[in-house]
Amino acid sequence: MKTMTNPKTKSKKSVVDTVIARLKQLAPKLPDKRTGKNCRYTMADIVLGAFSVFFLQCPSFLARQRTIQHQRGRSNAQTIFKMERIPCDNHIRNMLDAVPPEHFYPEFRALLEIVREQGYLDAYRVLDDKYLLMSLDGTQYFSSYVIECELCSRQKRRNGKVQCHHKVILPVIVAPGNPHVLAQPPEFITPQDGTAKQDCEIAACKRWITQHAAYYAADNLILTGDDLYAHQPLCQHVLDHHLHFVFVCKPDSHKTLYAVLEERADEVETLVVHHWNGEHGEIWTYRYCAALPLRAGDDALLVNWCELHITHAETGETMYHNAWVTDLTITAKNITAIVMCARAHWKVENENHNVLKTKGYHLEHNFGHGQQYLALTLLTLNLLAFLLHTVMHLSNKIYRRIRQARGRREAFFNDVRALLVYLTFESWAAVLAFMAGALEIRPPPD
Ligand SMILES: [Zn+2]
Repeated sequence: MKTMTNPKTKSKKSVVDTVIARLKQLAPKLPDKRTGKNCRYTMADIVLGAFSVFFLQCPSFLARQRTIQHQRGRSNAQTIFKMERIPCDNHIRNMLDAVPPEHFYPEFRALLEIVREQGYLDAYRVLDDKYLLMSLDGTQYFSSYVIECELCSRQKRRNGKVQCHHKVILPVIVAPGNPHVLAQPPEFITPQDGTAKQDCEIAACKRWITQHAAYYAADNLILTGDDLYAHQPLCQHVLDHHLHFVFVCKPDSHKTLYAVLEERADEVETLVVHHWNGEHGEIWTYRYCAALPLRAGDDALLVNWCELHITHAETGETMYHNAWVTDLTITAKNITAIVMCARAHWKVENENHNVLKTKGYHLEHNFGHGQQYLALTLLTLNLLAFLLHTVMHLSNKIYRRIRQARGRREAFFNDVRALLVYLTFESWAAVLAFMAGALEIRPPPD
């Protein structure tokens, strides 16, 4: 069987090859629960096997490649993903159950460093290119009355049964108008050692900040989050770690702030901007006020508040309304940009959670639950694949052109899955080169 190669793509190491090489290097350092010499499969085979399934969005990839390996003596698991042997899904699940997800967090940072080095992070800088914006939002990705593990959160439901579930905070770097979000290391909402209390989103968010803030501080990171996050201990924690915040602030949950705002109505600045949305006029009214107390009491943190109210120019009907608090100084010059950043938070729902849940990543699909870390570790590898796809999109012109030619994400992955059944490729770059050739996409000049 001929292996497909392309000399033009041979010399340059692709970002996919880099990630595969890093995972292969990392694997021997991971916890290996096997004892004795009965280790037919290396930890590298196990990690790369799991990663290949998420990268190709194909649960049956390994089973098919095992048949191909048997028939042809070589398979894409070996050539593209650098596996020596192909373990079965059960063995992968069993082995990864003992591997905490944290082991893979440095891989997210390594990919972000590639994005930074290649200059693609600059497109994400906001507010005069001085800041980076990161959305934080919790999402549930598993629930069951039957399956459970040591790290499940438990909740008694109305029917009297205990439901087990898993939630996670998925931080992503976003920019207004940029459809590509950059997934960063997750933080799992799980029962914590030594605390009888159930974990919560705010506590998980604080842990994420404690663990990762130093890395992002030089980028002047602004965190965005919903009303739940506009909570003094969390805001203080953000500031203590030299980060910034723009969090939604609703009147019902911030009574003191809104009472003081009313008392100081004469200090509120207003900016009105008229827009045409293609059908009718819109009046965008921005209001902002400095140094309002986030909560009652003498030790309240003083925050800057702003709101945007969009009304129909003819009917006066409200089309959009939201308000936020921030530590950033709000001026007539930057209010529109700050609100644009705040509104980029919706991307977490649209570009991240929806893509992860409905567009091939099957975030809520139970790939395996395990007893210890499996549910968390598989999700982390899935997220890493998502980030790698985004980085590939940013950095690889051929991939972008193929994706453009094939339209939907699913069409591209369907093609890849089919190709890998019939042909063996020397590398991921060779897969792309083959597709580009067939689609008559010429390589762009370097
Ligand atoms: Zn569980």
